Amino acid sequence: MAHRAGISLGSNLGNRLANLRKGRDLLVNLLPEGTNFLQSAIYQSEPVDCPGDSRDFFNAVIEIDFVGKPHDLLKATQGIEYHVGRIAVSQRNAPRVLDLDILYFGNIKTDEDILTLPHPQLTHRRFVLEPLSDIRPQLILPGDQSTVEEHLRKLDSDEPELTIVQTVW
Ligand code: ADP
Ligand code: MG
Repeated sequence: MAHRAGISLGSNLGNRLANLRKGRDLLVNLLPEGTNFLQSAIYQSEPVDCPGDSRDFFNAVIEIDFVGKPHDLLKATQGIEYHVGRIAVSQRNAPRVLDLDILYFGNIKTDEDILTLPHPQLTHRRFVLEPLSDIRPQLILPGDQSTVEEHLRKLDSDEPELTIVQTVW
């Protein structure tokens, strides 16, 4: 059985647009035949909690159908990160070619370090909520009561507004 899975894409190193496109294309390869995916616009955001010389991020969210277990998807997204050129660095929140985070996986809830679902930071991050609201404004996450759109509206954050880089990509 396929689950709908939301994945955030972020890049602040190298050719950010090309990195997001490569990540998207490889994720779409995971789709079962005949199923659909959704993709947000690409947004630009200032780095949060990152080393001082970090460039702005390009961020987007896509939703795919995935057949398999959440850990299979995590393996796939980590494989894609490294394929596109991410290298393991020990510095926290170091600039990265591609970061893929699993935001939700159907109605599944997990609480492991290696895979927490829904993603614990989801409802606190404008750079996730805004693109997610493009494609799934009415989504209510498992264990939650508010929609994505409501979380975005309520967001009490000092982060500056995001700017749209491009809607078609
Ligand atoms: P971050 O995404 O927090 O900037 P990393 O991409 O290096 O940092 O991820 C750190 C770890 O987070 C990964 O090793 C992964 O196992 C774990 N992790 C836990 N929950 C998730 C999730 N929902 N999606 C992706 N990774 C997750
Ligand atoms: Mg990550």
